[in-house]
Amino acid sequence: MRGDLIEAFAPGAGAARAAALFRATYGIEPDGVWSSPGRVNLVGEHTDYNGGLCLPIALPHRTYAALRRTEQDTDGLELVSAQEQAPSRVAFARVGPLWPTGWTAYPTGVAWALTNATGTTVAGWQLAVDSCVPYGAGLSSSAALECAVGLGLDEVFGLGLSADDEGRALLAQACIEAENVVAGAATGGMDQSASLLCRPGHALLLDTGAGTRRHVPLDMAAEGLALLVVDTRAPHQLVDGQYAARRATCEAIAARVGVRVLGELAPDDLPAAAAALVGPVTLPDGTVVDVETQRRRLRHVVTEIARVRAVVALAAQGRLAEAGPLLDASHASLRDDYEVSCPELDLVASAAREAGALGARMTGGGFGGSAIALVEQDRVDDVLAHVRAAFARAGFARPDALVATPAGAGNKEEQA
Ligand code: ADP
Ligand code: MG
Repeated sequence: MRGDLIEAFAPGAGAARAAALFRATYGIEPDGVWSSPGRVNLVGEHTDYNGGLCLPIALPHRTYAALRRTEQDTDGLELVSAQEQAPSRVAFARVGPLWPTGWTAYPTGVAWALTNATGTTVAGWQLAVDSCVPYGAGLSSSAALECAVGLGLDEVFGLGLSADDEGRALLAQACIEAENVVAGAATGGMDQSASLLCRPGHALLLDTGAGTRRHVPLDMAAEGLALLVVDTRAPHQLVDGQYAARRATCEAIAARVGVRVLGELAPDDLPAAAAALVGPVTLPDGTVVDVETQRRRLRHVVTEIARVRAVVALAAQGRLAEAGPLLDASHASLRDDYEVSCPELDLVASAAREAGALGARMTGGGFGGSAIALVEQDRVDDVLAHVRAAFARAGFARPDALVATPAGAGNKEEQA
């Protein structure tokens, strides 16, 4: 399509690359290749761990996992990735909380979590990975990796989870545990659910409180719209600590307000809930959060969930073009009330709007990563050029970008 955008692998190419890496590394054929997508969240940020709503779509950009079950050496896990340096060996018996470190935590963590969940020992395998999902861009390369590996392990160990959405939800849960417990990243469940449950042409409305989901038709092309994703490439700093702090703050606020999760509150409940917050909260790491900050964090979560409902209502009526102000409001709330934006994300949002985007916001956890802009299809190049010029003027590195169309969930690849 256009030059200068991060393209997804062509059909078949990703599977062929993973299979070729597998053969070159292990000198044998894989049992199969499975793939799963990255995701981008339209709206509903920092709501997934608050029992709230979010609205991700799966990206056309996927991670490919070639996998083989080994009969000998049933404790050995062998891993290689085109995106990483040398092949690794991991003893399954040692996998557990915060071990191993580095990228192998994700695939071995999935095997560990699946073993715990099913009682089948998911050990003795070889894995080769290749991917076109950008790393650390807030587009969930980590979930794409976990879910591609999870689908492969599910099949070669005969667990039978991937056949329907109920089983896939269990598989997603194992991938979440791998990320939370083994990799030690305290993320919510949106990424893995999107990667395993999204449908082409649809966004996935997740209600993380009720544990329900709905596929929302999202025909951007019919409205002449495109979703531009700009990866700021801003170095994440303090990401994990800040994420954990926000999460702990929300839990403390919920306890004070007397709800299980903040997602139980509606905008009308805000005055009474804010009044219930008296006195500072001390987080487990010793950080003190004052009352005014607690109220802003609360306001973000509750208004953000309301914005998800509003965007879904517009999408259902084919009026997504009117969602721009909701995306802008989401950005302002994340920047001012939740304080998870950064200068690069703010600049994408403001420069995109200046160049005629209908709305723009940071997406993902924040402190770097990506922002999205809802733009008329024929304005994509102009908006991106404008954002890049603004980055150059500000002395920031040139941002990467891609155009997101709602793609399908993870699956087994037809192999060449
Ligand atoms: P994001 O999920 O937003 O891309 P994360 O920090 O959650 O960012 O996950 C990125 C990490 O996931 C990488 O640093 C790496 O450890 C692992 N990872 C993701 N994709 C791959 C891949 N194709 N090969 C090896 N490791 C990967
Ligand atoms: Mg991630």
